[in-house]
Amino acid sequence: MPYMFQRWAPPCTNCTPDLVCPWHSEVETLRRAEVARLASQAVQVQNACNLSGVLTSAAAAANSLRDCGSPRGLSTLEISHHPVMMLFASKIADLAGLSHTYPTQAETDCLALVARGAK
Ligand SMILES: [Zn+2]
Repeated sequence: MPYMFQRWAPPCTNCTPDLVCPWHSEVETLRRAEVARLASQAVQVQNACNLSGVLTSAAAAANSLRDCGSPRGLSTLEISHHPVMMLFASKIADLAGLSHTYPTQAETDCLALVARGAK
């Protein structure tokens, strides 16, 4: 996790409603790249077969997503309903042998996040 993703950062005095300061612009670029990385990982993990590995990756993704929200991080509910976590949860249910419906919308959303971060 890059150091710039500080969850409890003080209000910026350089940002205005119309202009984002260079520092926060860079933070936003890094945040997008991190969300894109997590979304790509969630898509790739659909081919995994090791439950403990998926669980470890899912926990790391949840922690990283929490810190990626701005300016105070994503809430518990926002993390739970994020397409990245939905895809991880789907794979965990699949590996545990639970019947479930594959979240195709979450996959579509993750691929869109990957494309957005790649810009
Ligand atoms: Zn700023």
